[in-house]
Amino acid sequence: PLTESITLYNGVEIPKLGLGVFLMKDEEELVEAVKAAVEVGYRHFDTAKIYGNEEYLARGLKESGISREEIFLTSKVWNYDLGYEQTKIAFQETLDRLDTDYLDLYLIHWAAPKYAESWKALIELYEEGRVRAIGVSNFQIHHLEDLKNQELMQPMINQIETHPEFPQNELHEYMKENGIVHEAWGPLGQGKTDLFQQPVILGLADKYGKTPAQIILRWHLERGEVIIPKSVRASRIQENSEVFDFSLTSNEMELMETLNTGTRYGSDPDDQERLK
Ligand code: NAD
Repeated sequence: PLTESITLYNGVEIPKLGLGVFLMKDEEELVEAVKAAVEVGYRHFDTAKIYGNEEYLARGLKESGISREEIFLTSKVWNYDLGYEQTKIAFQETLDRLDTDYLDLYLIHWAAPKYAESWKALIELYEEGRVRAIGVSNFQIHHLEDLKNQELMQPMINQIETHPEFPQNELHEYMKENGIVHEAWGPLGQGKTDLFQQPVILGLADKYGKTPAQIILRWHLERGEVIIPKSVRASRIQENSEVFDFSLTSNEMELMETLNTGTRYGSDPDDQERLK
């Protein structure tokens, strides 16, 4: 069912499917999307300070009538708020905008300078019980190794760009070995790919009576990833949730690997200029 979850290494359960709200800048549109998502069973929402819509998300959840405890809520600390003190301030501001007194998951958005100091702040927030789980986003193996070498608590999750053209196989394996859950952003390729026209995907869509988007989302689930596809349209929000009633075989998963072109559409996490 739509409420299937993955257990993080600290025992907290994260629903496998969430609604991402990146680029949802229009308040009414976001509120309606959130209500539509709750209606069809979504219980997990992914935002970030930099999306500028935490308040709208809070309003959408309130209007949906769902109680806070039933929702898994993620937000992220932006690059200019990195550093120990500033991250703690940013966390409280995010809580205020989301109109809640705890988060389910708080992530460091990018490994910008001072990410290790921010990570120490997140560990404290976690130990104080103000956030149920903590993690990172756009971290490469060397960033994760850096935290490990400093003998700091391991992130429970790493949210990274992932789609069939860019499966992140090496990082995926590393995270698996280290018990870090793989969360995919841009799971549908952000509408920047021609994945929806690929014969491999169209063939599977035909076989299972599913849409290309559903085949791609199922591919992520078979790999053990958490997915947060974004759409503002109620019909697509529902379509993206109907991915728990079929599965892909290992042969079909191998076939999907032929779509791996190593194409990253988002920013390179090691581009220091961009992270300044
Ligand atoms: P996505 O891969 O979810 O693609 C979204 C786009 O795909 C939509 O705008 C729409 O055009 C299209 N789409 C959605 N459902 C469809 C369907 N059923 N059929 C056809 N087209 C469909 O891209 P995204 O929004 O960038 O990523 C999802 C979420 O990941 C974001 O909303 C955000 O929460 C998160 N994210 C995080 C980071 C990060 O740095 N951590 C970066 C980008 C996105």
